[in-house]
Amino acid sequence: MTGFLKLLFRNRLAAMGAVILGAILLLVILTPILPLQNPDVTATADRFQRPLSPGHLLGTDHLGRDLLARLLYGTRLSLIVGVAAALIAGIIGSAIGITAGYFGGRLDNIVMRGVDMLMAFPYILLALAIVAALGPGLMNALIAVAAVNIPFFARNIRGITVGLAGREFIDAAKLSGMGHTRIILTELLPNVLPVIIIAMSTTVGWMILETAGLSFLGLGSQPPQADLGSMLGEARSSLITSPYVSLVPGVMIFLIVMSINLLGDGVRDALDPRLRSGALSRPLATTLVSGARRPVPPARDGLLQIADLRTQFHVGSRIYKAVDGVSLSVRPGECLGIIGESGSGKSVTALSLMGLVASPPGIITGGSVWFDGRDMIGAPYEDLRRIRGDRVAYIFQDPLSTLHPLYRIGDQLAEAIQAHHKIGKAEANERALQLLRDVRIPNPESRVRNYPHEMSGGMRQRVGIAMALVNDPAVIIADEPTTALDVTVQAQILMLLEDLRRERGLAIVFITHDFGVVGQLCDRVAVMYAGRIVEEGPTAEVLARPSHPYTKRLIACVPELGQGRREMAAIAGLPPVVSDLPPGCAFAPRCDKASDSCRKGDIALSGSGGRAVRCLFPEEALT
Ligand code: SF4
Repeated sequence: MTGFLKLLFRNRLAAMGAVILGAILLLVILTPILPLQNPDVTATADRFQRPLSPGHLLGTDHLGRDLLARLLYGTRLSLIVGVAAALIAGIIGSAIGITAGYFGGRLDNIVMRGVDMLMAFPYILLALAIVAALGPGLMNALIAVAAVNIPFFARNIRGITVGLAGREFIDAAKLSGMGHTRIILTELLPNVLPVIIIAMSTTVGWMILETAGLSFLGLGSQPPQADLGSMLGEARSSLITSPYVSLVPGVMIFLIVMSINLLGDGVRDALDPRLRSGALSRPLATTLVSGARRPVPPARDGLLQIADLRTQFHVGSRIYKAVDGVSLSVRPGECLGIIGESGSGKSVTALSLMGLVASPPGIITGGSVWFDGRDMIGAPYEDLRRIRGDRVAYIFQDPLSTLHPLYRIGDQLAEAIQAHHKIGKAEANERALQLLRDVRIPNPESRVRNYPHEMSGGMRQRVGIAMALVNDPAVIIADEPTTALDVTVQAQILMLLEDLRRERGLAIVFITHDFGVVGQLCDRVAVMYAGRIVEEGPTAEVLARPSHPYTKRLIACVPELGQGRREMAAIAGLPPVVSDLPPGCAFAPRCDKASDSCRKGDIALSGSGGRAVRCLFPEEALT
């Protein structure tokens, strides 16, 4: 709850809405005990007293009634009716939507066609028809406003329920023998509840307006009882001569609706799990770079050189050191593997190279990335945009989420070329076709017209590779491109990357957690743990003589075919949380060789000739 309130109040507009609405609520709660005049007592001798007249802070209306008293009592009534209408519409509409979405089939069809028919009427006409049938009065206006909003909730909640009803956790609940009512109440409702709350918080202002509209037309509250709409209606005749009589309820309606909408938007954002991790704003076009960062000169040769790179995530008061002083380099035609468990900082390192880490919450606090003799950290967005996808290309793990679902793959490939080079559409299409041939997609002439969903996972990944190759890049950064594929397709993709590397002299940075893949493709490997490199060297040497205990245990986790009874060696424990690293060696809590000296002070990465390890008691001494 504290986290929710913190996020809510970080949004300044939502905070302003909360303050205004809180002040109004406080006033209307205290109204019965405030020293106010009777709002319904007329005094014709005091008609149209101006604001700040003696005894009448906001003046009087056409019957001499005190406007301040009528305003506060009227606001109280309008808020009660608006909130009650939102609750009734939300509860009944959500119940209809959940039931129709969960059971589906004929019930869904019948219920939703009825809802569609109701939504086909202009809602204000429908509300007028209901009030005409029931008769004027505030209670009937409340029923009418609630009734016309039920279809809105039913349709929204039904759409979300349909998506959830087909998910595995609902199937699991059914298989466990749970009844429909229990599944709806314990499995579906908790998942839909945030949406219902958000819909109610954003529509309550709308319902206050609708109730005020009915009262304005004389169909809501009846004299002498006042609500904001009836006050406006009664002030119509004196709009020109005494505008303050209309202005007072008008301003109050504006303040209530505006504050509820601002607060409702804030609640929606704070409840959205995608926005919780960062500030409530869109990510910047490039990763934020700390003003305190100092460029670090490259220490090694290479086409792409990473020098003491540091990337952090700032979430509230916590700082996650995702990449903490990483230095690497890759030469033309070389494949560098970066390996480690999930959360070790591999992908964040890869994304930091071209400023693709989402900011907020990501921030690059130190180091440099040298490409073509230029430091890319902090480079202007236009320069980065020119290089991204052209000289430095990415292949991501899940091509289904990186390819646009609504465009044919040929069009997407052609667009990627035309984004960087001034060539005609026909030439771009021809090049797209050739690329599909290069990545060995069978029957490329017809496949070029396919949408991503019409292809298998392996085919889509080949399209992802073709997309990375479109502009003949110098460097490809492949972030676990084979993880989601089965072993036969994985082998084909690795062979394809290997061939392309040889044919085109590509430099590849290959992110993976699989030493088998590293052994097959990479010339050199860097092992990452808790955001730092703990060992690096030529792949054959690291595989034959791992020096860091973590590397040795990672290699021991790889199953070997035909080794029969070899014991699998899982690494006990979990990687540390990078916001709360222990002093000394981060691997110490999981290391059999750990001693007191490992838990004191920083341990440097030491070695020579491209072979280095960060350990006080390595398994193999480096020569
Ligand atoms: S420094 Fe100590 S704790 Fe860390 S890996 Fe080496 S032996 Fe283990």
